[in-house]
Amino acid sequence: MEILNKVIFNMSPDNEPIASCKSKEEVIFKTQDCFGGQIESEDMTLDELDWNNINPATGPLYIEDAEVGDVLKVKIKDIKLKNKGSMTTIPEMGYLSEFLTGPETKVIEIKDNKAIFNDQIKLPLNPMIGVIGVAPPVKSIDCGTPGSHGGNMDNKVITEGSIVYFPVNVPGALLAMGDMHAVMGDGEVVICGVEIAGEVVVEVEVIKNKNINNPMVEDKKAFYTVASAENLDQATKRASDDMYKFLNDRLDLSANELAMLMSLICDLEICQVVDPEKTARMRVDKKALKNYNLKF
Ligand code: CA
Ligand code: ZN
Repeated sequence: MEILNKVIFNMSPDNEPIASCKSKEEVIFKTQDCFGGQIESEDMTLDELDWNNINPATGPLYIEDAEVGDVLKVKIKDIKLKNKGSMTTIPEMGYLSEFLTGPETKVIEIKDNKAIFNDQIKLPLNPMIGVIGVAPPVKSIDCGTPGSHGGNMDNKVITEGSIVYFPVNVPGALLAMGDMHAVMGDGEVVICGVEIAGEVVVEVEVIKNKNINNPMVEDKKAFYTVASAENLDQATKRASDDMYKFLNDRLDLSANELAMLMSLICDLEICQVVDPEKTARMRVDKKALKNYNLKF
C-alpha cells in the first residue's frame, strides 16, 4: 500500500502529484497537525510559530481515470492518532475572541482513548479529518480555506467509517488531506480542535456518470450535503439546495411534497464558523427513507 507523507499548503490544479493509484486502491496518508508539528510544549508562544507552515495537507494523490465531471468517492477506512495533540487561543480570532485573555498554547495528551483536557475533564475521542479535498478547477486555494473542492471544512462527521464524495475538477482529482482533530465540537468556536498528527487509510474510487457541485458525506445512518460560503446563511442555503437535488433524483415525490418532507426529516448543522468561509451541512437520516434504500 502506498504511504504518502509530503505536504502542500494550497489545493491547486497546478500541483504535481506525489503518487498515483487506481480506482478502488487503498492508500495511507500520514498527516501533520495544523501547526505542522511546531507546538511541542505549552511554553511555545504564538510569535514563535512559523505561519508559513500552518495547515499542511498530505498529497496530492493522482487517481487514474478520474476525469473532470466525475465523482471521487473516498472511504475513510481507518484513522490512527498520535498520543499528543495541541490547541491555541489566538487573540482577536474565533467566536469567543472578546473573552480571551491572551494567547495560550495547550498540549493535550491522548490516553486510553480519551483526550485529557485536565484532571476532571477526560473527553471521548471523535477523530476527524479537518482538511480534505481535491484540486479546485482553476485557481489555487490555500489549505486553510474550504470550498466546493472540500478543503478546510472542519466537518466532524468526516471520520472513520464515513465516505466523502467530491466533484472531480481536474484530471486525476488530486486528493489531499490533513488537519486531524482528536475531538472537536460543531462550530470549532475557539478556532481549533484538539489538533493532532496521525495517519488515515482511505480507499478511493472513481464514480462515472454522476455529478455533484459540492462535497457530500455518507455514514451508516445518514447522507450529508456540505457547503461553504462567505456566511452561514449562504452556506446553509447551498447545502439545502444540494440536498433537494440529491433527494429529487432519488425519490418519486412532487416538488412540494419533497420540500415538505425535507422540512420534517432534514437537519441543518454547522461544521465550522471560524475559517475564511463558513461551512454547514444538511443531514438526511436514512431510516426515514428505508423503503427507498437510498444510495449515492
Ligand atoms: Ca481546520
Ligand atoms: Zn485543525
